[in-house]
Amino acid sequence: MFDEPARRPTKWDWALQPLDRAKLSPQALRGLSFARTLANGLAGSTRDIARGLDYVSDRTIRRLIVRARHELRRELGHCLRTDCENPLPRQATRRRKYCSGACRVAALRMRRRTASDAMARRAG
Ligand SMILES: [Zn+2]
Repeated sequence: MFDEPARRPTKWDWALQPLDRAKLSPQALRGLSFARTLANGLAGSTRDIARGLDYVSDRTIRRLIVRARHELRRELGHCLRTDCENPLPRQATRRRKYCSGACRVAALRMRRRTASDAMARRAG
């Protein structure tokens, strides 16, 4: 029935958008290549990538990917909250990261949750 299923969107799709590579830092470019590996389904997780590369840890890969996403969104003038598609206000300063206070708070909650999940994993 569904002989050719549409490719499901993933949380890594942002990595596949066209961009001006010259505008990203070397760290962000490395992170971007890891994110593209995930976006293209060539690895299932950052852990998979780390297993294949003995010179870089899972943690470093994730850090570089976050860096890439931030620089990319910044370059495109997007709010840094992952699931928000709003642009930053026109008059935004370089330090501004989110379109609104709501996004800033949501992103902070997300970071806290991610941190406590990681802590729980280490403890378990
Ligand atoms: Zn936002």
